[in-house]
Amino acid sequence: MGSPSDRYDVVTVGAGVAGCEAALEAAKKNAGVLLLEEHPQVGSPSHCSGVVSLKGLELLGLEAHSSFSQKLIHGARFYPPHGEPIEVRKKDAVALILNRMKLDQFLAKQAVAAGVELRAKTRASKFERTSDGDLLTLTDGSKVAGKVVIDASGAGSRLPEQAGLQTPDWAQILPGLQYELVDMKEQGDLVELFFGAKRAPGFFAWSIPTGKNSARVGLASKKGNVKKFLDDLVKEQWPKATIDATKSGSVLVAGPISRCWSPGFIVVGDAAGQVKQTTGGGIVIGGYCGKLAGIAAASAAAHSGVESEGFLRNYDTQWREKFSSDLRKMGLARKLFAGLSDETLDRLFSVLRDNVSEIEAEGDMDFQGKIITRMLKKRKVATLLPRVATDAIKAIFS
Ligand SMILES: Cc1cc2nc3c(=O)[nH]c(=O)nc-3n(C[C@H](O)[C@H](O)[C@H](O)COP(=O)(O)OP(=O)(O)OC[C@H]3O[C@@H](n4cnc5c(N)ncnc54)[C@H](O)[C@@H]3O)c2cc1C
Repeated sequence: MGSPSDRYDVVTVGAGVAGCEAALEAAKKNAGVLLLEEHPQVGSPSHCSGVVSLKGLELLGLEAHSSFSQKLIHGARFYPPHGEPIEVRKKDAVALILNRMKLDQFLAKQAVAAGVELRAKTRASKFERTSDGDLLTLTDGSKVAGKVVIDASGAGSRLPEQAGLQTPDWAQILPGLQYELVDMKEQGDLVELFFGAKRAPGFFAWSIPTGKNSARVGLASKKGNVKKFLDDLVKEQWPKATIDATKSGSVLVAGPISRCWSPGFIVVGDAAGQVKQTTGGGIVIGGYCGKLAGIAAASAAAHSGVESEGFLRNYDTQWREKFSSDLRKMGLARKLFAGLSDETLDRLFSVLRDNVSEIEAEGDMDFQGKIITRMLKKRKVATLLPRVATDAIKAIFS
């Protein structure tokens, strides 16, 4: 084993939203930070639709009018498998559509300004714990050492296993495909979500307006041919639109892993399963957890032994205190609804139609636990679900 040529307090793997936030916060705490990114350009390629709630944006300390902002959104239009769509709309804007590449670049720039060394085109291929400290092997065969390594390398990461942790159940990743559509009919201020076995079995399709006549239209699905589903949807809804770009990505719907730290190691963002299982959204949760991870890593790097480990353990406690109750409920909702027939989904949407004002008043895009609890407690919803599911709901919510 060669010795590392570079030593840092904190090495962060992956310059996505979680990794950039982690590196930035660690640097603000005066840690010497290296941020590794396998691609030549931060943020590219981007697979993400870029929907974030304005409350979530605030949680990340970001402004809605920034270099990465594209469009403000007032709500959503849901298309059940059959029948008329349902609109949930608020008077004030509730979400921002952002350019994900620009967001990651904005955050990386802040991190570099705070003193982070960003090394692009550099992939970490192996983590090992040695008497010399934590070592990461890079693809050119060189090694870097960190007192603490933060894995923020996204869905599919294998580094946690090498650090003695579980990974999320990567088998639960749903293949996703997305088109950037232009030349569309005029786009409004709602995102559109399409459900049903003919559209996106086990998940949903989406249209996210990005400009006056453009949108990101995509879907993820549990089975079937995602390209065919997406082409059919485009033909049905926007026959005159032009496809400007195509992107595929992995939508993560597995829950978070049971432990997100081991000595000298933290895992954060998609790599830790910190996403909303109902939608696969992880910008806000991953970004916020990235902040906590960076602060914890900087403190851990400044201490040793049990004291150092205490900071890493505390990261795991802190992020769960903030998110795990909602994530648990979103996980249950996902499990319950992913297998429903179109007929049951239609009936379920008719209950939602009767409760639009409650959803408008109580719904929260990130902390969905409250509205899920309220909807699952409705008698009409309970009658649509199998007995075993209603027993599980009672056990969790009582
Ligand atoms: C189609 C699609 C649409 C989505 N839409 C939304 C949405 O609208 N809203 C939302 O909130 N979420 C959305 N998501 C989810 C969101 O993109 C992720 O939750 C989020 O990107 C997670 O951030 P992250 O920093 O953990 O990981 P990532 O953003 O995946 O960043 C990981 C980074 O690590 C780099 N990397 C990977 N391996 C290595 C390595 N070994 N060495 C060095 N670098 C490495 C990658 O190149 C990447 O830059 C969507 C996902 C998909 C697939």
